[in-house]
Order: sequence, then structure tokens, then C-alpha cells
Amino acid sequence: MLREEPLDALMSRAYAVKARVWGKRVALRGLVEISNICAKNCLYCGIRRGNTKTVRYRMSEDEVFAAVAWAAENRYGSVVLQSGEVMDEANALFVERILKRVRAELGDSLGITLSLGEQPDDVYRRWLDAGANRYLLRIETSDPVIYARIHPAGHSWQARRQCLRSLKRLGYITGTGVMIGLPGQDEDSLAHDIAFFRDEGVDMVGMGPYIAHPDTPLAAEAPRLGRERLLELSLRMIAAVRLAIPDANIASTTALQAIDPEGREKGLLAGANVIMPNITPQKYRGEYLLYPGKPCVGEDSELCRGCLERRVKSIGEEIAWGERCDPLHFGKETR
Ligand code: SAM
Ligand code: SF4
Repeated sequence: MLREEPLDALMSRAYAVKARVWGKRVALRGLVEISNICAKNCLYCGIRRGNTKTVRYRMSEDEVFAAVAWAAENRYGSVVLQSGEVMDEANALFVERILKRVRAELGDSLGITLSLGEQPDDVYRRWLDAGANRYLLRIETSDPVIYARIHPAGHSWQARRQCLRSLKRLGYITGTGVMIGLPGQDEDSLAHDIAFFRDEGVDMVGMGPYIAHPDTPLAAEAPRLGRERLLELSLRMIAAVRLAIPDANIASTTALQAIDPEGREKGLLAGANVIMPNITPQKYRGEYLLYPGKPCVGEDSELCRGCLERRVKSIGEEIAWGERCDPLHFGKETR
């Protein structure tokens, strides 16, 4: 599937499944990059602790609330709060307070996804109790050997998988994903990634190309794949995941758009059903640079909104305004 079927045919097959399960509709998740402070040092990431060129920020509680309220007013069905990984009580409380305030002032209809890295179970539990519904934690690769190659000592694949399992057990709608085009990764390891998503019973999948950031150690490794091949593999992965888990939410990620101006639309045509427009205040966007070439860094949320609607319409799809679009997969299977 990843290598034999012509790309067009594979995408059409996956798109037909997506259209049958979800209709010609695209779910929106407004992405708020609440902080670029990170205690980790992943060898590929532009906001890793060791990148001294990054100017660190953390949005205030009011700023995060305002971004979430903007999303609700503009009929985004859900938001994603994302940041570097900080594992301390101050951070746990900060997020907990925001969640409680959002639920108290904006109600329960908005879906709230967290993407705040590995945390102790009791913190995951507190955030769930405070109003979060979903959690995104990419495994990055299902191969522990590749994982070890792209992380420094002390970053554990097993610990990350354990976090994913805890999230699921605690009752989060759980998402994971991988980067595509990593050093040491081949088509067999990508096929294994898909089996991992299925076997772990995840409800949401977010995958995108790995894009080398010049101020990271991994960038020193020679690029293995050209942009075209990277795009093709990414689209094949989206299509293959749609065929393997028809009722999952699958994101067409910003990184796809970074390697092809129409990458996000192509991702939707390969079977993805979610896009994550950036609604971070413009003054912070330039400092949340995981990789170079991130789209929409200089635009404000209003501009992003209009541009997205046009792009989605151009491929014959509609945005599911105001709908949470929880993954139909959630709660179906038992492990
Ligand atoms: N810190 C949290 C975590 O690691 O789960 C959430 C934020 S982290 C920046 C979100 C995702 O960005 C990571 O899971 C990783 O897949 C992706 N990412 C980081 N650096 C990247 C790069 N150079 N190219 C593509 N994706 C990247
Ligand atoms: Fe931190 Fe996440 Fe980047 Fe790793 S991928 S350095 S945990 S922000």
C-alpha cells in the first residue's frame, strides 16, 4: 500500500472511505501555541531546550482565554492548547485554571484538546476533570531504535507509550502520530507505525513530514528525501491510516503545507478530515518555530479563517462550523 498502488488510486480509495464516514466535511481545531518553554531536548525540534536562539514566551491566562473565546465566537468546533513540555506544579495549575475558566464562561460545547507532552497521571486526571476532552501525544516513531536516534539520553520511548496508554485509560479521546522522513525510517517502519496506531486503539492521528530545523542537532544529518518524495509518502500515510482506521480523526497538518503550498488540501483529498488553523496571537507565532517555513506566521487569525474557507471550498468540501466532530472511533473498541 505504501509503495505499490499509484498515489492517485490510493488517495481516491481513502477519500471515498472518508466521505462515507464523515461526509464532505472538514473539522476545525483552532491551535493555540500557549508557550514555547520546554524542558526537553528532542534533537529535531526548533523549540528544544538547547536552542538558545529561541526567545521564550508563555501566554498569559487572559491571552489564552481570549484566543479560546475567539475560536468559540467564530464557530470553531474545538481548540488545541499546545506547548513545550513543562512538568511542574505551576504549569499544571496554570492549565487547570484556564480549563476551568473556559468551561465556566464558555460552556461545554467546545472540544478542548491538550498537547502538552508527557505528564504524571494525576496531572492528566486533573486536566480531564477541569474540562479537557482530548489529548495529542505523538509517539514520533513506533520504532524504539529510531526514537533513540532522534532523542538524547533520558527521553524514553517506553515512557511516552505509557503516557499514551494512561491517557486512554483515564478516558481522554487520545491521539498520536509520527513524523515522516526521519533518519533511519523506511517504508517498513512506516507500515509498522500504522499497525501501532491500530493496536494502541487511538482515536486521532496527526502525522506530518519531518522538516530539518537548522539550529538543531538532527539537521546535521544529510537530508534523505526530496520534497516531492516526502509529500508523496505523507499522503500515502494519511490514505493508509484512513483505510486502516476508517472512523479515526486524521489531521492534515501544517507541516504538509510547509512543504507544499497546497499540502493541506492534498492531505484532505488523501482522507484526512481535520485541519488545525493557527489562532495563536500573531506576536508569538514567530517564536514557535518547530521547523523553518511554517505557514501563516505573519497573518492574524481572521485572515487565516477566510483563507482556509476558500481553500476548503476549492476542493469541494465544507467546514463543519461549530461542530466538535468527536472521532467516531472513540469508545468503540475495548482493549
Ligand atoms: N511538546 C509537546 C510534545 O512534544 O508532545 C507538544 C508540542 S511538540 C512541538 C508537537 C510536535 O511537533 C511533536 O510531537 C513533533 O512531532 C512535531 N515536530 C517537532 N519538530 C519538528 C520538525 N522539525 N519537523 C516536523 N515536526 C516537528
Ligand atoms: Fe519539547 Fe515537544 Fe519540541 Fe520535544 S517536540 S523539544 S517535547 S516541544
